[in-house]
Amino acid sequence: MEQPRGTRLAEAIVSEYEFQRMLTHFFRMTSKYKLTDKPQSNYAQPLSYRLVDRTEYRLNRRILRKVFESDMVLTKPQMDDVIENFRARVTGRKLGKRNAAIEGKEFRWPRGIVPYDFKENDTEWQNTILHGMSKWMKETCIRFRRRTTERDYVTFFRGGGCYSSVGRVGGRQYASIGHGCEAPGIVSHEIGHALGNWHEQSRPDRDKYINIHETHILRGSQGNFEVRSDLEETDIPYDLGSNICKQNLNCENGGYENPKNCRSCKCPQGFGGKRCERIAQSTPGCGGELFAMNYWQTLSSTVVGECHWRLLAPSGKITFEVIETKYECDSSCAENYLMIKHTAKMEQTGFRQCCNPVPGRIVSEGSQVIVSSVSNDAPANFTIRYILESASNVAPPPAEWGGHGGLTGLLGANEIGIDNTLENVVLKDLPRALQSSRGAPIGSIFSLLDSFLKNSQG
Ligand SMILES: [Zn+2]
Repeated sequence: MEQPRGTRLAEAIVSEYEFQRMLTHFFRMTSKYKLTDKPQSNYAQPLSYRLVDRTEYRLNRRILRKVFESDMVLTKPQMDDVIENFRARVTGRKLGKRNAAIEGKEFRWPRGIVPYDFKENDTEWQNTILHGMSKWMKETCIRFRRRTTERDYVTFFRGGGCYSSVGRVGGRQYASIGHGCEAPGIVSHEIGHALGNWHEQSRPDRDKYINIHETHILRGSQGNFEVRSDLEETDIPYDLGSNICKQNLNCENGGYENPKNCRSCKCPQGFGGKRCERIAQSTPGCGGELFAMNYWQTLSSTVVGECHWRLLAPSGKITFEVIETKYECDSSCAENYLMIKHTAKMEQTGFRQCCNPVPGRIVSEGSQVIVSSVSNDAPANFTIRYILESASNVAPPPAEWGGHGGLTGLLGANEIGIDNTLENVVLKDLPRALQSSRGAPIGSIFSLLDSFLKNSQG
């Protein structure tokens, strides 16, 4: 039943007020507790170049204390849930099963259809948002439809920043694409929240992958870095290929049936072929498959373009080291980079490096490692060396590493006491989220899907 307009407006104001009150309370509470007992990274050195922040974080500076994790507006039950998670962490108490404000079918859009409308008439602004939607539609079965009479829908408006509700919250919900937020990456990020994506940084397993320097967090906003045990570890809010394709193609390497063409699989970066069983095609003069042996071999390239190699271990795993990466220096390694996938999950974005190679040895989780060099301009030089993993590995000649922290210095790969698999976090997003080199806060590490969308921009 439709409620009178005035009532709904009043409810919206009350719930906004309630959210602000709870958020302030939450920030105050959380700032009194340490996030983690882990040692900090040994690589915490001054950054050797300016960080480029292209995220909504930079644009939302003025509203940082009014939004959760820099760009989310939560409902009261969601906020309750966040607070409950925090309490459980500091008291060591187990969370009850009643926590269901974050995960669950009721927060998803039925049949993957999201009704929306626009509050402003500016067509250029509207087109930016439509473009952001098209990115999701290109990669998934999710559809956006101009609202007619649907009860639940998203209203895009020009607020004082870039933020959104998370998931389908019921009735009219808002997503703000304010001035400066019109970048396709930001728009698809906010749409991602409306679809039900939470930030990657809150995943329950995030401490396995990254270290957080609490001293770099804006004082009083430590709560943005709480983990939440009720977020699904998979972090994929929708079964992206389902409901439309039922071809049973058995896509490999994390691919899924392409909702736009059910006869083929949609492959993660670096893979190709009908079922993602092959390495992706490369620019002429680079790429291919290589076998790791029980002696060190070197792979290097200077080819500008898109080059993909697959290192294979006939049995067991692969140990490798990144000796050199010489690409244009950019804190996000956005355009020109070396990307390596070495975890068992090939659908995860690999870690990127452009001008400061990560020191130390890395061991693959499975029997393959994907090495991709992607560049528009020279230089595009990299050197890695690799060997079959074995206890009796001969020590290689010492690698020269002149890095001074920077991109990879924030991560602590291969540090003693820290899980070696930490590189499989979306490496490029961590520095992107850093505001500046003045010890400012880390913003947000976006979901894998989100990065995937940003990577396929254009
Ligand atoms: Zn966000």
